[in-house]
Amino acid sequence: MAEEKVAKKPLPDVTPVNQPFWDGAKASKLMMQKCTNCSTWVFPPRPVCGDCASEKLDWVQVSGTGKVFCFTIIREVVGTALRGFAPDIPYVTAWVDLDDGPRLCSNVIGCPVEQVKIDMPVVTVFEDSGDGITLPKFKPA
Ligand SMILES: [Zn+2]
Repeated sequence: MAEEKVAKKPLPDVTPVNQPFWDGAKASKLMMQKCTNCSTWVFPPRPVCGDCASEKLDWVQVSGTGKVFCFTIIREVVGTALRGFAPDIPYVTAWVDLDDGPRLCSNVIGCPVEQVKIDMPVVTVFEDSGDGITLPKFKPA
């Protein structure tokens, strides 16, 4: 019997620029960059503000509450690159507008996929990937 290869999910690359985001997630805190010059939220993490090019960016803990802006229900994995997600099917990938921060893309978990709706209030939950990365996800508030 051939040995079955276990497909793993791709994980984010932790860099010096995004390290505070991932360190925060590991500590169950949702951290976002905010420009101290023009007050614009900066996400995904960058070395400079996308609006004013200032390098003066602070890391701010946000509440983690928000509303679903839009979403899709993933019901099939196509190709081999994303095979690691197959056990999660069906699952929801959503853009969430944080109440006190920017729009963030992640998964909505903790409810049947059919219950996810536009404008649904959600709250951040932190899921240990088992590989040293904690992923911020959302569940119904
Ligand atoms: Zn700025």
